[in-house]
Amino acid sequence: MKWFLIVFCVAGIVQSSPIVSQNRSILLSVDPTQPSGELGYYHEGDMMLTYSQQIEFKNINKNWTGTLESKYQWPNKTIAFDFEGTWYTEETQRFYYAIMDIAAKTCIKFVRRTNQTNYIMVTTAESNCFSDFGFVPGIRIINLGHECFNSIGTIQHQILHSLGLFHTHTAYNRDEYITIKNIDDYYYKSYLEINYENSRFGLPYDYNSVMHFKETAFAYYGSPSIEPKEKGVKIGQRKLLSDIDSQLINRMYSCPYGQ
Ligand SMILES: [Zn+2]
Repeated sequence: MKWFLIVFCVAGIVQSSPIVSQNRSILLSVDPTQPSGELGYYHEGDMMLTYSQQIEFKNINKNWTGTLESKYQWPNKTIAFDFEGTWYTEETQRFYYAIMDIAAKTCIKFVRRTNQTNYIMVTTAESNCFSDFGFVPGIRIINLGHECFNSIGTIQHQILHSLGLFHTHTAYNRDEYITIKNIDDYYYKSYLEINYENSRFGLPYDYNSVMHFKETAFAYYGSPSIEPKEKGVKIGQRKLLSDIDSQLINRMYSCPYGQ
C-alpha cells in the first residue's frame, strides 16, 4: 500500500521534472560497484563539510558515544528537494526510484520543494558524485554527475550522506573487519581514517553496505587499499541500500520499526 501511494504521488511529480531528453541510454550494470566519481577531493572523497563539521569530525580524541549528533538529522524526518541542471528521463526516473526505495524501507519522507527554506538542491552541474553532510539550515547540495546515475545505489549513497550517514569503512570499529594498506599518510588521513563519530547504532559491521568503499579506493595502481578480513566477501556494492543500511537509518531517526 505504501509503495502504491508513493508511486501514485511520484507519477504526478515526474511530469514537472526538468527533463531535457527522452532518449538517454544508460546500461545498468548487473553488479554495480562504487564509481570513480565518488573518489574526489572532498572529505573522504565525496562529503562536503562545513567548517565547523571539519573541526568536529576530525577530533579523533573524542570518545565514541553511540549517538550521532541529532542536529544533523532532518526535522520531522522529512527532506524537501528540488532539481537543478540538465536531467535525462532515465536519470529522473532513477532518482525517484532511489528515494522511493528509501521511503519504503524507512520512515524518511521526501517531498518536492514548494516554499521550504531548508531543502536539498539536487544538481547535475559537476561530473563527480558528492554531497553536503546532514541537515544544516538552508540549501544543501547533492551533486550527481551523469555517471552517478548508472546505479541506484550510487544515488542512494549521496542521499544517505545528506541524511547524516558516514562511510561504513570509517566506522569506529572497522579495524576488526578490514585492513587498510597500500596507501600513503596523506591519502589515509584525507580519505580512510577512522571517524569516531561514526556510530553503528548497535548494528553489525556491514560489508554489503552501499556506504562502503570498494577494495581499490584510492589505491596505488589497483593494489587493494581496503581488504576485508573475512575471506570471500565483496565490498563497494552500489546496487541498492542493504538491509543494515535501512536499519541504521531507522535507528538514527528513531523510526517506529527501527529496533
Ligand atoms: Zn560517500
